[in-house]
Amino acid sequence: MSNAAYKEMWEKLDLDVPAHDALLEVLGKFYGDIYMSQQGRLQGAEYLDFVLSEVHGLRIKEIQDAKAQGRKVVGSFCVFVPEELTLAADAVHVGLCAGADAGKEAAERIVPRNTCALIKSFVGFKLAKICPFTESCDMIVGETTCDGKKKAYEAFGEYVNMYVMEVPQCKNASDRDLFKSEILRYKAELETLTGKTIGVEELKRGIGIVNAKRKALQRLTALRAADPAPISGRDALLINQISFYDDPVRFTAKINELCDEIEKRIATGEGVAPKGTPRLMLAGCPMAVPNWKLPYVIESAGAVIVGEESCIGTRNTRDLVDEEAVAKATTMDELVDALTDRYMRIDCACFTPNDERLDNVTALARDVKAQGVIHYSLLFCQPYAHETFKVDKALAAAGVPMLAIETDYGMEDVEQLKTRVQAFIETLE
Ligand code: SF4
Ligand code: SF4
Repeated sequence: MSNAAYKEMWEKLDLDVPAHDALLEVLGKFYGDIYMSQQGRLQGAEYLDFVLSEVHGLRIKEIQDAKAQGRKVVGSFCVFVPEELTLAADAVHVGLCAGADAGKEAAERIVPRNTCALIKSFVGFKLAKICPFTESCDMIVGETTCDGKKKAYEAFGEYVNMYVMEVPQCKNASDRDLFKSEILRYKAELETLTGKTIGVEELKRGIGIVNAKRKALQRLTALRAADPAPISGRDALLINQISFYDDPVRFTAKINELCDEIEKRIATGEGVAPKGTPRLMLAGCPMAVPNWKLPYVIESAGAVIVGEESCIGTRNTRDLVDEEAVAKATTMDELVDALTDRYMRIDCACFTPNDERLDNVTALARDVKAQGVIHYSLLFCQPYAHETFKVDKALAAAGVPMLAIETDYGMEDVEQLKTRVQAFIETLE
């Protein structure tokens, strides 16, 4: 369908259609420059191109159809919000992307200027009325992770139906108890929202869908250890980004097909870049759609990205809900315990201490055979900026060089970033 055919739907969602058209135009051009210019892409990348081209079209239409059938739509901004429960309530779970500067001026009217770009982006998308996902949500779930987010949710909550989950900041037994009680509170909220009861079978189904999705992404991560790299970092990041808003069952099937293709490619020694191309890994803040700036800079500088240690990457996919515990569980309490254990393993920089992240970063660098790591912090992101020092030290001890980059969504520093990334790559060669 053409954009004109979707116009009526966007108008019904009360989008600012001219501003939204302008966003789509910029996004289309950006995607063309960064993605369609790549050589040696997998055939399965057609799925990525299709999803991206229809991200505000067909996917929104599907969501509207689901709503017409009585299903609710829940949006979230953080990997701490358990999708398993949302699916168990037969609701649609969407990650609300926040990777563009559009709406920044509007956002700065209600959040401080020295707020990270990710927060300004989700606030700006709402105020500027340019995100059909946000406008489709019946409830948006925030979480008490960093200070920037939790205070922004107070302002954001004046515009949307907001629900906030409390995420602990430490990992003691009492913190686990707190998060377990928050999972139960979210379950009750979903039941009120949807009018549906979440039973053991429903939750097992939700866990099964999300575990399958994470397994497909784990498979992709493992395949990226091959040299030559079988897939570009840009495409792998896009896959992780799409995992937050496409239908999870369809997504899993498509990514498994893509992994089959990658396995064949590895068997024939093919890749997206010649064997021996410098291999870099990204670590740090999440890169939400359409934040492709740094991956583009890195891969245009002659390196290939072989892993992303971030929430739009392995921080979200590394751990499954224990399948054995789920298979044995006969009560809701046992299932919620399994969910709690899985979520309490997330190594977000909002935790203190957060030493497991240091082990996880070094282990991933070793597993994907990265020769260097680029640590990425968004400007004004205190948690990840602080951890930059510790990650650098841990990687140095493991013999892996690191470059720390702090940036935002603006394009002003692209040339400077290119110079720094190129210099870093030269040191690896
Ligand atoms: S970095 Fe932390 S706050 Fe941000 S999405 Fe990940 S877990 Fe949530
Ligand atoms: S990037 Fe940092 S400051 Fe921004 S929302 Fe995430 S944790 Fe908070």
